Amino acid sequence: MSFSMHGIAVAQGIAIGRARLFLQTSLEITHYAIAPQHLGAEIQRFDQAVDLVRTELQELEQHVPAGAPPEFAAFLQLHLMILNDETLSQVPRSLIEQQGCNAEWALKQQMDLLIEQFEQIEDSYLRERKEDVTQVVERLLKALIGQPRTLMSDKKADADSILVAHDLSPADMLLFKQQPFQAFITDMGGATSHTAILARSLGIPSVVALHHAWAMIREGEPMIVDGMNGVIIVNPDPLVLAEYRLRQEQWTLERQKLKRLRTTRATTLDGTLIELLANIESPDDVDAVKKSGATGIGLYRSEFLFMNRRDPPGEEEQFNAYRRVAEAMRHQVVTIRTLDIGADKPLDSTPKVNALNPALGLRAIRYCLSQPRLFLTQLRAILRASSFGRIHLLLPMLSNGVELNQALALLEQAKTELRQEGLPYHEDLPVGGMIEVPAAALALPLFIDRLDFLSIGTNDLIQYTLAIDRTDDTVAHLYDPLHPAVLNLVSQTIRSGQKAHIPVALCGEMAGDPELTRLLLGFGLRQFSMHPAYLPDVKQIILKTSLPDLQPLTRKILTTYDADRLKELAQRLNQWAC
Ligand code: PEP
Ligand code: MG
Repeated sequence: MSFSMHGIAVAQGIAIGRARLFLQTSLEITHYAIAPQHLGAEIQRFDQAVDLVRTELQELEQHVPAGAPPEFAAFLQLHLMILNDETLSQVPRSLIEQQGCNAEWALKQQMDLLIEQFEQIEDSYLRERKEDVTQVVERLLKALIGQPRTLMSDKKADADSILVAHDLSPADMLLFKQQPFQAFITDMGGATSHTAILARSLGIPSVVALHHAWAMIREGEPMIVDGMNGVIIVNPDPLVLAEYRLRQEQWTLERQKLKRLRTTRATTLDGTLIELLANIESPDDVDAVKKSGATGIGLYRSEFLFMNRRDPPGEEEQFNAYRRVAEAMRHQVVTIRTLDIGADKPLDSTPKVNALNPALGLRAIRYCLSQPRLFLTQLRAILRASSFGRIHLLLPMLSNGVELNQALALLEQAKTELRQEGLPYHEDLPVGGMIEVPAAALALPLFIDRLDFLSIGTNDLIQYTLAIDRTDDTVAHLYDPLHPAVLNLVSQTIRSGQKAHIPVALCGEMAGDPELTRLLLGFGLRQFSMHPAYLPDVKQIILKTSLPDLQPLTRKILTTYDADRLKELAQRLNQWAC
């Protein structure tokens, strides 16, 4: 049966392939009775799943992907130990027999019991191992429902796969970076969740907030993902398929044409040079930056180096990663944002946060200041890398002056230590602040005279201004970059930066949306930082824009409060002179 579903488009392009379902234990596990004469077969089914997962883990251990954190192998060994322990490989067998239930249900019961026991352990390290138990059970469940191959090991088989997940964490996405998926779709998430942002860096089409896709789509079903319109079509009929193949070709052709703009300077018709910078998550992204024609890196999200591992990277490992990027970018700026952990980007090594509103909790600079040793290590690594290129340091989520004082004091401490140790660094390393909390945007004088530059993080600024969780699909339709409150905060921040003579960049997803390019230019923005794939589209708009002509309309937009009228004015801005 053919059917389509609508969600939110987060990464453009069209993919045609087959569904590959990604299972999570948080989803419901079915419970059914097994007739006494079939209990032996059910136990055998369980044993086969255990054997299969054992082989999988052993195989993975032998083929640890290049670039995986060093702890990855140790982590696989631990999973093998957990699997082989009789609490997981034997007890569920007895439960099947005693209760006459299916293997999945026996496994779930045993997992719940083990997790409860782990939660009572005093030692926080051991307590955290319950996550590992969950992950092993997840693999077993996948094997039981007939989805035995791991996402890590069957690269060839996945060449036309479309990943269908209920939800994906940014850490999951990081692992999928090494996979040849055609596209991915999820039930949950918003357009600017960190998972969606990572999807953009994969350069594959994706749609989120589909609500029930995971439950409705079956493994292996043919499907189309339209990343432009946020639509998926399952079991498309031949006519629809032909139409989409045509669109896919046109899209590829357009992308190739746009690539020719790579070396063209991003200058407006009136001769103003606009800086187009790139957002990256890892040193491996530098290749894409080079190909995009970006003139520097406006946001290096350093937290991804800290994910999918048990312990945080040490100073040497961080230094090497930052240095690699600085050297590869040569004389171009590399803006390294200090660890922005918390909310939808938890660390494996930190205890699970039970806060009801983690986005308002111990996140980003707050987290770093609560862990001064960890922060100091990162500051030392960034400083050391600064003598190998043009590094700028960016502090996330500032909301009050004390945070800035403390961060700057730690930076001074890091410099003093390096000086005493005779290690080189750039003494005048520019320090900037992310403006992504409304309080910071409204009270810029708190920071502006102690910072060398500002970077507006609209993903969070929208989240916090409109009180819309950026990861929550149920309110994703209310997440509106064109809300007058957001527009006024963005434009005020740009103006204040100009008055104070400090550069202001914008590094949230708004910067990569060509529909908003002219509006932001009209507000006075001269530095845009975005995922490299979006750079040619934005550049194309800049090349066709005359800044003086934008003024009357952008001024009107800033005093318009009616949503329809505002959208109409924004559209008019885009149609004009194109
Ligand atoms: C932002 O909030 O706009 C931003 C760039 O930071 P992140 O998306 O990593 O939170
Ligand atoms: Mg942010």
